[in-house]
Amino acid sequence: MNATIHNLKTPPKVTASKYICPNCGVDAGKGVDRPISRIDIMHRHVMAICHKHDITYSWSDRSGEAWAHHQSEQVHIPRIKSAISYAIALHEIGHILGRHQNSRISAVRERWAWTWARQNAIEWTLPMINCENRCRAAWESDDRRSKPDRVMHLMDILERKLFSGKIDQAEYDLKVSRLDKI
Ligand SMILES: [Zn+2]
Repeated sequence: MNATIHNLKTPPKVTASKYICPNCGVDAGKGVDRPISRIDIMHRHVMAICHKHDITYSWSDRSGEAWAHHQSEQVHIPRIKSAISYAIALHEIGHILGRHQNSRISAVRERWAWTWARQNAIEWTLPMINCENRCRAAWESDDRRSKPDRVMHLMDILERKLFSGKIDQAEYDLKVSRLDKI
């Protein structure tokens, strides 16, 4: 028996956490009543980001259905049940918080939403790498049909230069904004 608890003059205040997810009841702000799993941590991370940045979220019940609306700061994301759904949720949030989300080129928006996801995830594991690669392959083939190959090629070069440190973010940003005009 713990004497300290019985000696309390006033009971501890219990206030509802604003981080409780209305859909699944997981508390992103405090502990849960069972051992916290990796998935709980991922779920709580996504919830905490949405609350911190006032992003409106809704849960997708259809697998593969996820979207983000940059202007209204809304995301529609899968329930966090695996590293994959966590990666997809972060990617959609990346469309709100990531760089270059006003670019007219969808490949630029998509790439930078993934970059945001990678940079902000608690971990980036092989299933998540594969998920990103599958998604990128799907929309890049769509994009190449509508965009001149030259633009895609220039973007590949710019991205390589940025990630290898040959150009800095400011120079990359400037050059990507010029691509919008092509
Ligand atoms: Zn996307």
